[in-house]
Amino acid sequence: MRMPAVAVAIAVLIVALPHAQPRSRVVMLGTGTPNADPDRSGPSIAIVVDDASYLVDFGVGVVRRAAAAERAGIQALNVLNLKQAFATHLHSDHTLGLADLILTPWILERDAPLNLYGPRGLRLMANHLVAAYTDDLRVRTTGGEPKHKHDPRVVNVHEIAPGVVFRDDRVTVTAFAVKHGAWPQAFGYRFQTPDRTIVISGDTGPDSRIEDQCRRCDVLVHEVYSEAGFARRPAEWQAYHARYHTSTRELGAIASRAQPRLLVLYHQLIWSSTEDELLAEVRSAYDGNVVSAHDLDVF
Ligand SMILES: [Zn+2]
Ligand SMILES: [Zn+2]
Repeated sequence: MRMPAVAVAIAVLIVALPHAQPRSRVVMLGTGTPNADPDRSGPSIAIVVDDASYLVDFGVGVVRRAAAAERAGIQALNVLNLKQAFATHLHSDHTLGLADLILTPWILERDAPLNLYGPRGLRLMANHLVAAYTDDLRVRTTGGEPKHKHDPRVVNVHEIAPGVVFRDDRVTVTAFAVKHGAWPQAFGYRFQTPDRTIVISGDTGPDSRIEDQCRRCDVLVHEVYSEAGFARRPAEWQAYHARYHTSTRELGAIASRAQPRLLVLYHQLIWSSTEDELLAEVRSAYDGNVVSAHDLDVF
């Protein structure tokens, strides 16, 4: 018996509904690099699960981008809700927003200190930033502002090793080592949520540990550089990029083995090439789903 069109539409809707609003979303707060691209804030990704948010990296613009995502309807990214953050490594493009993340939500009356996870050196960085704002903190705490909800000098820093570094009733976060040039410690992160497995590369050269962590994961967010753009870079910069980052073709090979449901490119070093060319290069080595992310994209 043939079903009438309306009944088919309703049936499709019912089947589709459980997937219409996943509990977990990947919000690209910043997809940039050290390049001062006005359309791309510094690297920062928010994993949002229900009303909770977890940041990976905090580049320039992180708090403003979170506010923009909230304005676009993702309430979990309210500034006061920025309480957990995981650093992949301490390169400045990934950490320039740390003072913002410590201080701005505090001024706006976040109810508890920031919890930070990341490599050795993160505690020193947080301590130095707090010290750098000594005069600001004195004036804000004694100069007439209403009483704040926590001590701004307290940042709960956890210097981590590879393994499970965080768990609550929504996520299990696993840090894994990646190879990023001369950095003694650089991490990727794997988020297991109630409905998705999300893997974030951070900055890395081609590294088989990313495939091991993904293995048909739902979303693999990976850094990348354009081979066409690379070919036109000065030789001394080529040597640097090849040591620290992953080319389009290398990433295509990694994704072919890891088989994510969706590959998301971020921290794109495109240089004199184009985003279309970047995608074409990845696709020449990978036939799965791939997108090149922009700030405030949601996956
Ligand atoms: Zn970077
Ligand atoms: Zn880096």
